[in-house]
Amino acid sequence: KCGANYTPLSPVMFLKRASMVYSHRTSIIYKSTHFTWNQTHQRCLCLASSLRSLGITKNDVVSVLAPNIPAMYELHFGVPMAGAVLNTINTRLDAANVATLLAHSEAKLLFVDYQFVPLARQALCHLPSSAASPAVIVIDEIDDPTGIRMDGGLEYEQLISGGNPDEAAYEVEDEWDAIALNYTSGTTSAPKGVVYSHRGAYLSVMSLLLQWGVGNQPVYLWSLPMFHCNGWTFTWGMAARGGTNVCIRTTSAAEIYRAISDHGVTHMCCAPVVFNIILEASPADRCPINARVEVLTGGAPPPAALLEKIEQSGFHVTHAYGMTEATGPALVCEWWAEWDLRPAEEQAALKARQGISALALEEVDVKDVKSMESVPRDGRSLGEVVLRGSNVMKGYFKNEKDTNAAFKGGWFLTGDVGVIHPDGYLEIKDRSKDVIISGGENISSVEVETVLYRHPMVVEAAVVAMPHPRWGETPCAFVALARDEGGEQQRVREEEIINHCRNNMARFMVPKKVVFMEELPKTSTGKILKFELREMARKLKPF
Ligand code: ADP
Repeated sequence: KCGANYTPLSPVMFLKRASMVYSHRTSIIYKSTHFTWNQTHQRCLCLASSLRSLGITKNDVVSVLAPNIPAMYELHFGVPMAGAVLNTINTRLDAANVATLLAHSEAKLLFVDYQFVPLARQALCHLPSSAASPAVIVIDEIDDPTGIRMDGGLEYEQLISGGNPDEAAYEVEDEWDAIALNYTSGTTSAPKGVVYSHRGAYLSVMSLLLQWGVGNQPVYLWSLPMFHCNGWTFTWGMAARGGTNVCIRTTSAAEIYRAISDHGVTHMCCAPVVFNIILEASPADRCPINARVEVLTGGAPPPAALLEKIEQSGFHVTHAYGMTEATGPALVCEWWAEWDLRPAEEQAALKARQGISALALEEVDVKDVKSMESVPRDGRSLGEVVLRGSNVMKGYFKNEKDTNAAFKGGWFLTGDVGVIHPDGYLEIKDRSKDVIISGGENISSVEVETVLYRHPMVVEAAVVAMPHPRWGETPCAFVALARDEGGEQQRVREEEIINHCRNNMARFMVPKKVVFMEELPKTSTGKILKFELREMARKLKPF
């Protein structure tokens, strides 16, 4: 079928190109460590060669527990260059969950950043007796080695120095072969491992770079964990653009401001929750932002009020929507120049919409999933968001039951409820399990949250269902309030929040209870843990 010049698509090819066309440009900055693209390429060739010497071959899973450090970046190339599949594990998981993933993925090797050695030790103790224990390689602090090792095992830099850069990298035979294995965050039930193909990853990179408008040589701040959908595929994407990867261990306000000021960051990705970290930073943590920083946000709905505030602080936001199963962002809210003329509040509302399909996606639709009929594109008719295209997973690894349940008629069912506006832009109204049904009316928790965020004192808000004797369910709001200069939370009465809602939404949508919290519970990727709030709401009494 293919001519002799057929080249399977793979994002790994961006690295070889980068080593030639951006060879002396900076690829990675981390503390006092600086690498060029030529060095990064050489290091990844050495890593791949050492992995092969350790017996790693095609389709073997190589897991990693690490923050956004240079080794984590290099593993995104070195592992597939040995023919293997990279499995990045969320570092916030507990030992039992890490063990479940290691056993399910049948990982042959586990790379562990020195700070996560205690977690890895515990996880290995939790491995079921039927599972083979992976060999462990510690990644020590590159600038300032600690000497921490695990049971006499190898250290990452030994693999780099012991590898042969002249050994040819593994050549991808079929673009549908696996490059990465990413587990969705709901790990309490059967693990759901999503297999990314070389082709899907390549297409996602290309479409995101284009739709976000990333020019050449961006300075990219790693504020999004690389373990989250391979950093929304920008791990590979930065090699495609000859960008500089600014690596930071933690996403704190001080680290973000310092990186922007010291390295002239031009681009970063983050969940909307990071906007609060930036906006609420103490004066000591802040640095002046001299040039506009382009931010791609997603992973949770960004409230329009928050978008408005962050855009006034030197950041220019592009909004994307996606999920692990779609190789990261699947929709992008592309901006039209004429929208610049609208008032700021209206612009923020337009930007809070999830947008139009990414180029890598064949189609996105909103359907009634019983009949699989599309809902009218009127901005009002609710249905489930469904996707199909090259960047949608083929299925969950070794999990036929969940795979069968995830697709219908070739469409991937996202579990999100949304509408399509007459201009073709999609807007998520809720996750299907988060919709509140009050007296037979559907209430979108996102719509109520949007209003709550417009209250000047509210910095975080989440609305969940609370049982009600008359209405079945009723909205219950959880909010965190802004802090004063001294770090003390401001005081607002429950009644005032409820009145603010009454003045801004239909009566039946108004929360019947407001709970004030220091901070809302969140996952490591910044999603508010609504199931925890629902548990709390079950025990409360309406206002
Ligand atoms: P999990 O489902 O385990 O949280 P993901 O990290 O893949 O795993 O999250 C995907 C979900 O996050 C989507 O189905 C959607 O509910 C939510 N989401 C992601 N991006 C957005 C966004 N821009 N707006 C609203 N919801 C979003």
